[in-house]
Amino acid sequence: MYLKRKLTESLTTFKGLRFAHKFTANSSKRYRATVGIGGNVGDVKRRFEHLLVEIRRDSRVELLQTSLILKNPPFGFLDQDDFFNSIIVLQVDMQPRVFLDYLMRLEKKFARSRSFANAPRTLDLDIIFFDNRVIKTDRLTIPHADWSNRQSVVIPLAGIR
Ligand code: AMP
Repeated sequence: MYLKRKLTESLTTFKGLRFAHKFTANSSKRYRATVGIGGNVGDVKRRFEHLLVEIRRDSRVELLQTSLILKNPPFGFLDQDDFFNSIIVLQVDMQPRVFLDYLMRLEKKFARSRSFANAPRTLDLDIIFFDNRVIKTDRLTIPHADWSNRQSVVIPLAGIR
């Protein structure tokens, strides 16, 4: 069950029991990671729910909070379904590179297939922020490149404290 709200002709938000929700305020883990989640294949909201179950039973990460879910049009390759995006905030002890590997394994678990840039995807996980670190390597750009120009990040992020 989601509370659905139409923001504009092309943007719709969904709040649920576990989205736009604060799970816990404090954690014993060291770093705060803000992660963008997205997808546009199949029942994405259901997949997001499964992702939360997976994350919450993993002792390596602690789920602090989630944003609302935003349905928004694709960019880049336009001939595909709208995307669903949300932000989840985790507390972790892993370093960013290790955390990226962790997220990529999660993506795999949810059967993401990579075909071409901006192609339809089952589950995309991006590190938006990692504490206040600034990283620019071949594998990792933090804060995530162009995050501030993306509705899919900025709108969900607005509700995160
Ligand atoms: P994408 O197809 O958009 O999911 O891009 C995945 C690739 O982006 C990965 O192989 C990462 O090495 C790279 N990447 C660079 N910066 C980030 C970031 N902040 N979060 C996630 N992936 C990143």
